[in-house]
Formats: sequence, C-alpha cells, structure tokens
Amino acid sequence: MHPPLLDFHCHLDLYREHEAVYQKCRREQVEILAVTTTPRAWTKNLELAAGASNIRVALGLHPQLVAEGVEELPLFQKHLSDTKYVGEVGLDASPKFYKSFDRQKQVFEAVLRACSEQGGKILSLHSVRCAGQVIKMLEAYFPKDRGTAVLHWFTGSASEARRAAQLGCYFSINSEMLKSESRRAVVALLPRERILTETDGPFTLTNGRPSIPPDVSSTLNDLAALFEIGADVLGQQIISNLRNLESKGAET
Ligand code: MN
Repeated sequence: MHPPLLDFHCHLDLYREHEAVYQKCRREQVEILAVTTTPRAWTKNLELAAGASNIRVALGLHPQLVAEGVEELPLFQKHLSDTKYVGEVGLDASPKFYKSFDRQKQVFEAVLRACSEQGGKILSLHSVRCAGQVIKMLEAYFPKDRGTAVLHWFTGSASEARRAAQLGCYFSINSEMLKSESRRAVVALLPRERILTETDGPFTLTNGRPSIPPDVSSTLNDLAALFEIGADVLGQQIISNLRNLESKGAET
C-alpha cells in the first residue's frame, strides 16, 4: 500500500490524450484538483470528471490568457456560484506577460472580490515573479474568513511565505520547487499543516515525459526526505491538511 496521494494542481485537459488521462485518473487513488485556464473549458472538464469522487474541477481564468487579451470575466462570474474550487487564477510578472500586468491586476481583483462576496471558495493561485503583489491583493480583497487561497508553485521569499501563512494560505508543492537549495530552504520553513502536493502536469516532467497525477508520489518522497519524516506519515498529514482545507470552506 502506498500512502494516500494528493495532486492539488494539474491541468487534466491540457494533455494531448486528455480523455485517456481523465479515464486513468478515475481509477487511481489520487485526490485531484483539476484546474482550468479559461471558464470556457470548465463545463467540459466537469463532464469528464462526472461521477469521479476523487476529481474536483476548478473554474479558472489564467493570467497568461488575460495577457493574450482573452476577456472571459463575465463567463467566469456566471459560473462562479456553481463551484467551490477556483483556479488557475492570479498574476504573472514574467517578461513575456508583463505588459498586461495592469489588466491582470484588474481581472484578479474582480476575481477576488467575487470570491470573497460569495464565500467558502478554495483558490489555486499563480504568482510567477510577483508573490508579494499577489499577497498584497489577498490582504486587500480576500479576507481570510471569506475563503482560502492555495499558493501553487510558490517561489517567493521566506518573509513572503510567512506573510502568506499569516493570511491563512496553503502551499501546493511540486517537484520543480525542490530542485534548488534556496527553494528547498523556503519550503522547509512552511507550516506543515498548510502543505499540499501538486504536479502542475503537464508542465512538469517525470522521467522525461509530462507528469501525471500518480507521479506526485515522487514529490511526496522528496518532501518527506526534506522534512526528515516518513513518506507515509507525511502522506497522511497532507490528506488531513486537505480535509481541513475543505471543511474550512464548508463553514463559511
Ligand atoms: Mn498550472
């Protein structure tokens, strides 16, 4: 028996063989959050996940698509009351997308305001090269009693991690975040009760091919080694973190 597994940020609809990946994930004992990049994709993903109790589908509006001029905020707002899971949303300040940063901020502010108004949402957030800015916007528009943010692929500093933890944020950790000493040092500081795991498949690789959710087991092993605890103990902790996160959502 392997420890229970969690992949809290993957793009099941972005694999070349995405219907087969969905079918495989239904049969695996992996808890999954399938994020989407546009609200247009959400309904189709819901259909692919229908009846699979281990697959949650999040409503997304990716900042890189905002940068490409995709204006789907009205559609996002229309679907929002039908889901508790939101993602992938956030900001991207990398050079390729920076010219749309002001527009990204407007969209992200609208997303945060709508989520906090409805309450009880769980958000999977993108924060490339702008963790501080994302945290600032959470502070301004997403009070911690109105929902919970999960920072996906967090690459901010130790002090930003501390600020985010104070805001009640969770962190979903993937294999890329454990590759350099400086990143590992930040991950080691994160509160254990706020740790989740993810693949961000198909955007990370395992054995040279795009990672799929069961591959999160290698991240669990690496993380357990970093924390110097057993992978089975950490696996249980992560599943219990997930349960806490999800029951927290239900209270509001
Ligand atoms: Mn992603």
